[in-house]
Amino acid sequence: GFKMGIVGLPNVGKSTLFNALTRTAAAQAANFPFCTIEPNVGEVAVPDARLDTLAEIAGSKAIIPTRMTFVDIAGLVKGASKGEGLGNQFLANIRETDAIAHVLRCFEDGDVTHVEGRVDPVADAEVIETELMLADMESIEKRLVNIVRKVRGGDKEAVQQERLMKAAMEALENGKPARTVEVDADDIKQWKMLQLLTAKPILYVCNVDEGSSASGNEFSERVAAMAAEQGAASVVISAQIEEEISQLEADEAEMFLTEMGLEEAGLDRLIRAGYELLHLETYFTVGPKEARAWTIKHGTQAPQAAGVIHGDFEKGFIRAETIAYDDFVSLGGEQPAKEAGKMRAEGKGYTVKDGDVLHFLFNK
Ligand code: GDP
Repeated sequence: GFKMGIVGLPNVGKSTLFNALTRTAAAQAANFPFCTIEPNVGEVAVPDARLDTLAEIAGSKAIIPTRMTFVDIAGLVKGASKGEGLGNQFLANIRETDAIAHVLRCFEDGDVTHVEGRVDPVADAEVIETELMLADMESIEKRLVNIVRKVRGGDKEAVQQERLMKAAMEALENGKPARTVEVDADDIKQWKMLQLLTAKPILYVCNVDEGSSASGNEFSERVAAMAAEQGAASVVISAQIEEEISQLEADEAEMFLTEMGLEEAGLDRLIRAGYELLHLETYFTVGPKEARAWTIKHGTQAPQAAGVIHGDFEKGFIRAETIAYDDFVSLGGEQPAKEAGKMRAEGKGYTVKDGDVLHFLFNK
C-alpha cells in the first residue's frame, strides 16, 4: 500500500488530524476498523462514490474500499537533522513513506503554545524543510565516499549514482529541495534508491480555525502561494472540526457539513489530494459477494495491476476482462455490458485505466 507521513512542528494539529483520519465513522461503517499497526500508523479508506454505485448495480453484499496508510511522525523539531532528541528515528520514519503531508498551523489560539512563539506557516514550513535538507546533505555526503570508490573501480551504476547525488547536492546547497531536480526517465530507479527526504512529493495541509474551514484564511492563502511556487499541492482543513465530524454517524456528519457550508469532509479532500499527489488510480473488481477498489500507480499494466490482489495473479496472468466504469454503469452491469460488446479481453500490454472494472484470468 501507499504511505503518507504526517509531519510538522509540535502543536500544529498533527495528532488531532491523525485521530480524525483514523477514527472516522465512515471508515468503520465500511467494515474498516481503524487498523492500528502501531500507535501512530493507521489505515484509511479512500472515499470513492463510484464503488457504491457499482455495488448497488451488482447487488454486492460487501463494499471494500481501497486503503491508504497514514503515519503520524511527531517530534520533528529544529535540530532533528543533528540527531537531537529522537531526531534520527523520525527522519528514518519519513524515509519509509511515499509522500509527505506537511501540517502547518494556520490558526490563532492564545491557549495553544506555538513553539516559535508566533503564527507564521511559511516560516514554519521552512524550519522543517531545512531540517530535511540538512539530513539529505548528510546522507549524500556519507554515501558519496563509498560511491566514489566504486566509480574508480569502474562500476557503471555507481557513475550514474554519483551524477545524481551531485545534482541533488547542488540543489540542496542552493537551498532548494531535491524534488526541484529534473530527473530523466532512465535515472528514476537510481534516483529513488537515494531515498532523499526532500525528493518526496509534498502536500501542505493548512490547519485553519473553525470559521475558515470553508474558504481558508490569510495564513492559508500564503501557504497556497508558496505551494504554487514550488509546484506542490495544498489543502485547507480544520483538524478540530474534522475530529468532531469523525465522531458522528454518516447522516449527522452530512448535516453538520451543510451547516458549515462544506461540500464534503476535509478529510476526504485530503485523502484524495494525497491520491493525486502520488498519481494513484483505482480499478474495481465487482461481483455478488463484494465490490472492491484497488490502488495502482498511473500507467500500470494489467499483470502488475493483478499483482496488487495476489502475486499468483501476476505470475499466471492470461488476460483481463475489462469494462470501463461508464459502460458498466450506463448499461446496467456486467451481463448487459458484455451483450453490448463492451467487455474487452485485454492482454499483458494493456495499461489499466482509472475506473476499469476488471476480472482477471490466470494460470494456477
Ligand atoms: P501536534 O503536536 O502537532 O500533534 O498537535 P496536536 O494535534 O496535539 O494539537 C495541539 C493543540 O492544538 C491541541 O490542544 C489541539 O486541540 C489544538 N488544535 C489542533 N487543531 C486546532 C485548530 O484547528 N484550532 C485550534 N484552536 N486548536 C487546535
